[in-house]
Amino acid sequence: MPTDFWMSRARAASRSADGFTVAVAGAGGVIGSHLIPHLARNIEIATLVLIDVDDYETKNLASQDALPSDVGRPKALVQAERARRIRGSLEVIPIAADVESLPLGWLRTDLVLTCLDSRRSRQHVNLVTRRLGVPWLDAGVLGDQLLVRLDLFRPDRDTACLECRWSDTDYAALEQRYPCDPQTSIAAPSGSPSGLGALAAALQAIECGKQLAAEGSRLMSGEQVVLDATGQNLWRTKYLPHPACRIGSHGPWTTETLDDDPATLTLGRVFERARQALDARDGGVGAQLDRGQLGRAELDRAHLDRPHRDPALRLSVEPQRFATEWLCEGCGSLQRDLRILSRTPARDLPCPVCSSTLHPLGLRIEDELHESRLSPAQLDLTLEAIGMVSGDVLSVAFPSAPDDVLHFELTAHAPQTASGGPRLCPWGREDRRPTDKIEAMTDTAAPDVADRTGQGGSPHAA
Ligand SMILES: [Zn+2]
Ligand SMILES: [Zn+2]
Repeated sequence: MPTDFWMSRARAASRSADGFTVAVAGAGGVIGSHLIPHLARNIEIATLVLIDVDDYETKNLASQDALPSDVGRPKALVQAERARRIRGSLEVIPIAADVESLPLGWLRTDLVLTCLDSRRSRQHVNLVTRRLGVPWLDAGVLGDQLLVRLDLFRPDRDTACLECRWSDTDYAALEQRYPCDPQTSIAAPSGSPSGLGALAAALQAIECGKQLAAEGSRLMSGEQVVLDATGQNLWRTKYLPHPACRIGSHGPWTTETLDDDPATLTLGRVFERARQALDARDGGVGAQLDRGQLGRAELDRAHLDRPHRDPALRLSVEPQRFATEWLCEGCGSLQRDLRILSRTPARDLPCPVCSSTLHPLGLRIEDELHESRLSPAQLDLTLEAIGMVSGDVLSVAFPSAPDDVLHFELTAHAPQTASGGPRLCPWGREDRRPTDKIEAMTDTAAPDVADRTGQGGSPHAA
């Protein structure tokens, strides 16, 4: 079951003995809810990872494949139950969390499918699949124009990624979402009929099968298909890689495993380990150079061609960001607490003075941690205390040699919850930790929807 799932997947290069593992981000929306039954019926797939942060709302029922009894329940959980009903032998791992908050390693599957409603989420998946070397099949619909879109990306160095084709306008529109009708009614969301999502889902499921089977007729990397359901037209376009693409190298990272428990491994110890490994890379010559122990002749013999290194390291957990200072909305006090931003719900970090909600201070949000700027107390923090979990990839480098990076993937067992299940998403709401309760749930379990009135956008188009 899931506890060891990412451990066993972490090193697997391709199809496992039992079948393929496919992850779906946006698994319960306009496209995803129609897609899951098709995937459940594909017997080549042994494991499905279903990711969706939202709960079903009444307004979703017009366009998404869900029932009134699903309203108020996490979409990932609802779709996981459906998939299991279709094929009992299928392993399904529902994750009711934002795909952007997940560790890189959790998407280390044979194929990632996305049906997401925001550019930022797709930008995130683009980066993650490249770093991991995992192919990615993205689907979207444009409701008012009855358009369906499919894009295939393979993580080869010489093929276009999503951002290769982005212009300044695309980056400016990063926060745009495609919300459904905000009115809570069963009326159809503006211009996105259920059939359009089902059409996109069917095309995506068929292409998924071809990609897994490596059939000759499958889409090639960088290819896009757009189907116009109004005029019954179809366009197939091949995009070329952009030499100045923001994400840099398009090939996968080489990662080493770090099998220590994030609950006991400290930040200081990670820096120590990384320093030893980086020093050992060139036979220790670089380390001696830093300490002034080598003369000019020895340097020439070692063919050493790089600048003197800073003694302090920097660490990032791409694409996560760290918050270091928090402002209380109640008493206005400033609190220092080092946390991964996307995994720190307000309830986890109440103000120690007045228990009100703390908000991260914008100026104190960092992409990376500099060893020299961390206090001894911060270096003593465990990775778990900061919000890191198994599956995270930690990248460590000397600032003066940024290309000489070590990537460590945390591969220790996920910690257990009180109920015995693995805590996949400690940062999710209690009722969004689906693996805690999935075993106890039956097909006829009546959801408690009395006090659930969720709001916010639902996947509609991308
Ligand atoms: Zn690119
Ligand atoms: Zn306070």
